[in-house]
Amino acid sequence: MRKITTNFLLFFFVINVIYAQSDMPWNGKKCAVVLTYDDALNVHLDSVMPVLDKHHFNATFYVMGDTEILNKRMEEWRKASKKGHELGNHTLAHPCDGSIDHRDWVIPERDLSKYTIFRAVNEIKTTNTLLKAIDGKDERTFAYPCGDLTINGTTFYDQVESEFVAARGTFHGLESSKTIDMKNIKCFSMHGQTGEEMIKLVKEAEAQNALVVFLFHGVGGEHSLNVSNEAHIELIEYLSKHKKDIWVDTMVEVARYLKNEK
Ligand SMILES: [Zn+2]
Repeated sequence: MRKITTNFLLFFFVINVIYAQSDMPWNGKKCAVVLTYDDALNVHLDSVMPVLDKHHFNATFYVMGDTEILNKRMEEWRKASKKGHELGNHTLAHPCDGSIDHRDWVIPERDLSKYTIFRAVNEIKTTNTLLKAIDGKDERTFAYPCGDLTINGTTFYDQVESEFVAARGTFHGLESSKTIDMKNIKCFSMHGQTGEEMIKLVKEAEAQNALVVFLFHGVGGEHSLNVSNEAHIELIEYLSKHKKDIWVDTMVEVARYLKNEK
């Protein structure tokens, strides 16, 4: 009789463990959140990092190699990387496809449609060298400037894929750990959202056991795509209060985890 009871308990224990694992697919948590900040802005160092550091969160900062802010504040970027933040590759000169509608603002020198594949690949590799000189790291992720994937129909990332753990695009959506495309990870671009609206996306990710990637530019200014400091803090405080259920980490850490799982 005792043996039957023991077997019974063991059976329920195993079932519970299996259930708990399937319900917690993100490093033992319900969902994952990756906070990404594009274009190497002063506000990222001045406003964003202090908030993240206060709550012990690491995020990914996609920087361009040719920006003055990288040059002038290099020690601060280096320090940020030492703390655990990721310096992601956002190319050397942030070229966008000027041949697409409503892209009149793209200057010819930074027009991706006028690039050769060789030049695009070379500039991305050069940026990796530059970033390694700052942070000493060999593994990082990539983010497509303006979300542009091709040069006149050819996908240039294929030729640099081995240099990266993953790449973030600009298509909108939550990601499932099973169907995620590591070459073009979806995100939600933030512009004018309230804290409540951002938190709603996290709650959806929790409900669906999904990954939600936030794409920020300006936070409290410095970019035409912008959210307020207050809204950003509201999101971070929500994430901090729900650490038990939500895994917040850099893109490279989450992507590495997914690759190991597969
Ligand atoms: Zn950008």
